[in-house]
Amino acid sequence: MVLSEQDILSRAQAAFLGLAVGDALGATTEFMTPAEIRSRFKVHHKIVGGGWLHLKPGQVTDDTQMSLAIARALLQAGRWDLPGIADGFVAWMKSKPVDIGATCRRGIRDYMLSGRLESPCNEWDAGNGAVMRMAPIALFCFGDDEMLERCALAQARLTHNHAYSDAACIAVGRMVQQALRGAHRHTLHAITRDLTSVHPKFRFNDYRGHAGAYVVETMQTVFHYLFTTGSFEECLTGVVNQGGDADTTGAIAGMIAGAHYGLEAIPRRWVRRLDGAVREEVLDAAPRLVGLSPWAQRREESE
Ligand code: MN
Ligand code: MN
Repeated sequence: MVLSEQDILSRAQAAFLGLAVGDALGATTEFMTPAEIRSRFKVHHKIVGGGWLHLKPGQVTDDTQMSLAIARALLQAGRWDLPGIADGFVAWMKSKPVDIGATCRRGIRDYMLSGRLESPCNEWDAGNGAVMRMAPIALFCFGDDEMLERCALAQARLTHNHAYSDAACIAVGRMVQQALRGAHRHTLHAITRDLTSVHPKFRFNDYRGHAGAYVVETMQTVFHYLFTTGSFEECLTGVVNQGGDADTTGAIAGMIAGAHYGLEAIPRRWVRRLDGAVREEVLDAAPRLVGLSPWAQRREESE
């Protein structure tokens, strides 16, 4: 399938909006068990806020806020700018965010104290905190696989340095990019097979229902629901009702499923409920990030 430029830009918006919607929806059930979610909501499928962070309906958390920090830095620089991203994380941390992961906090604090842009390799860094920020990177690097790998790892290692986090960041970036091109879900599944052939731990064909912040569990949850459902709504509902790190599994599933199913597939009632300023910013940033990508530059040159 060859998509028009307009289709690709609209799918880019769906990826970024899907991330924010998944975060806002999943934050309600973060750290709950599936049984607790069932007894409380039967099925959780409304953006109602609450959760352990006591959020307003539609409020987003670190997953969306750190992604927006990356987007702002890249759009302001008009090019790749890792120190700019790190400075954006610092400004965000100083703004007293509602939530911040321990690994992210440590990485940002290290940068503030030492200017270091790469956390040292750490066996405890196999959390999902770098993968949740991949949407703006996938859009900015659209059309260049090698650049995607380079930028994915650079942004990830501001806070997380672990082979599983690295591999998951690249796989998610590729899936978003393929989905922007309108690739069939078989192509997305092939990317998971590339991942599991190198790191068999990510295999998800006998998914056990663990949905924690360990990046292996996070990705298994996302992959399981992505490939066993047939719509954005079904995929996201499945993921967030699994509990655990539900805002982050929601965010990651949201960026892939958003790009895959497109803007019209994101339920209106979720889009309406999302924080208005966040909604405007992600919809504005997504096409501008793609506008900076190698794909867009090639199009300009060929015109
Ligand atoms: Mn979060
Ligand atoms: Mn989370």
